Amino acid sequence: MRISSRALIAQLAASLAIVAVTTLVFARWIHVNSTTIALVYLLGILAIATGWGLAQSVMASLVAMLCFNYFFLPPVGQFTIADPQNWVALVAFLTTALAGSTLSDRAKKQAQEARTHQRETEQLYALSRSILLTDFSHAIGFQAVQHIAEIFECRAVALYDASAGDVVYGGAEDLRGIEGALKQVAVQGASPANAQPGVLFAAIALGGRPIGSLALKGLSLSDGALQALLNLVAISLERVRMEEAANRAEAARQSEEFKSTLLDAIAHEFKTPLTSIKAGATSMLSDPSRLSPQFREFATIIDEEVDRLSRLVTEAVRMSQIDAGKVRLEREPLEIAEVVRSVLDHCELQADGRKLNLQAAEGLPPVWADRDLVFLALRQLIDNGLKYSPPGSPLDVTVGVEKDRVVVRVSDHGQGIPDRERERIFDKFYRRQASKKFIPGTGLGLYIAREIIRAHGGDVWVEGETGSGAEFCVSLPVRETLADAGTEPGAASEQQHAAAVPPGVITGSPAAALPENRAS
Ligand code: ADP
Repeated sequence: MRISSRALIAQLAASLAIVAVTTLVFARWIHVNSTTIALVYLLGILAIATGWGLAQSVMASLVAMLCFNYFFLPPVGQFTIADPQNWVALVAFLTTALAGSTLSDRAKKQAQEARTHQRETEQLYALSRSILLTDFSHAIGFQAVQHIAEIFECRAVALYDASAGDVVYGGAEDLRGIEGALKQVAVQGASPANAQPGVLFAAIALGGRPIGSLALKGLSLSDGALQALLNLVAISLERVRMEEAANRAEAARQSEEFKSTLLDAIAHEFKTPLTSIKAGATSMLSDPSRLSPQFREFATIIDEEVDRLSRLVTEAVRMSQIDAGKVRLEREPLEIAEVVRSVLDHCELQADGRKLNLQAAEGLPPVWADRDLVFLALRQLIDNGLKYSPPGSPLDVTVGVEKDRVVVRVSDHGQGIPDRERERIFDKFYRRQASKKFIPGTGLGLYIAREIIRAHGGDVWVEGETGSGAEFCVSLPVRETLADAGTEPGAASEQQHAAAVPPGVITGSPAAALPENRAS
């Protein structure tokens, strides 16, 4: 603890007075031997060292030595010493006084440091407690500066939160006008050149990344405690960030859940009327000669639009089943090339005369998969290939084996997909701006396809050069790989599925029922 120069002068004068009084008492009134006098001097010096400090006790030691020599060692009244033994006594006195002063001053400082340390620990504990109990319904930065000002008895505190970009103030005094300096500290990590006198600036960083800065007026803290204080503030700012992110994620989740539930409900309501309309349109078109050309055209439009609506409804229902974990895999050994061929046959009508090329490698190993679901996933990709490429352009599908996996590649001659969107297109309801306006869709097809393939322990991704067509790839583990793992295919599929899919998305029990035509 530092003392003012006035207090120091007063203590030096008091130390001199103690030595003077001791000298007077023994010179005038109490006559005892020189050893007793020396010990009394020493007592006074130790008391001065313990109470006030080293400077005061050193000065008292020197003056006491001179007085002891002048007044009590023969020849009395002179600064000379006749007996050499008294020299020894004088040197021993001075050495003892100085050593005692140093030791008691050190002990005093250590006690002082221990008290300071304890106080700082208590303050830091109080701050961390207040951060833990922070009320997230109120501005966190404001609460933090109030707590710091109160707990550390600062006259003024200012906190700059870099991500929010604002500065909050606390404490009795005003620190306004330091925003620029605070921002500079946050960026450079060093105190600004024109910093206000008496104000301590410090950067706040988390994991080496600057996230703000703090200005404190009237704070006395050791470096270690200051660092701990900055860390606590950093943690509290990060907590706010995490809390906000969690709230946003929860809001997004709830909105998505709401969308899914609503869609599911609407889709179920649509199913029956759509079936009736489809039946009507089909029977009208079964004998077109009975219809006038205009009505025939109307019936064709109704038929096509009903197909589109049915598909939308089916996708909505399937998505909600996947989200609810209601879809189960019914696995069987599957020749994937044969499934691809049946999907291409199915898409023949939609292809409208376009070439659908299939190239399948010889002797492909079977995969252990759910036929209907894999059919749906592949149909989705082939549909998209036709939908998002120019009329008349061919579609190429290859099937081969790559590193223990059967891989199906669907390549079109459309615009392709830019790198930055190659993951996003698999998100629920995501549709690219480029296709949104011109091509109808729901943004669910790829999400469903990927969920299905991942449930089998495989994956779906996009390759191809942007601008010269997209190549959608599907990989599925071959049946041998599953058997090699030393388990029954059914059990292995369960394990693969568990590793690949978040719990509750699609479950792999062969026993249970499944989607579209299998689930309601
Ligand atoms: P939908 O086709 O109903 O919009 P999808 O989930 O099948 O939904 O596809 C999501 C988006 O990915 C589409 O809106 C489209 O922008 C893009 N996309 C899918 N397949 C292709 C493709 N073969 N070529 C270019 N873009 C594609």
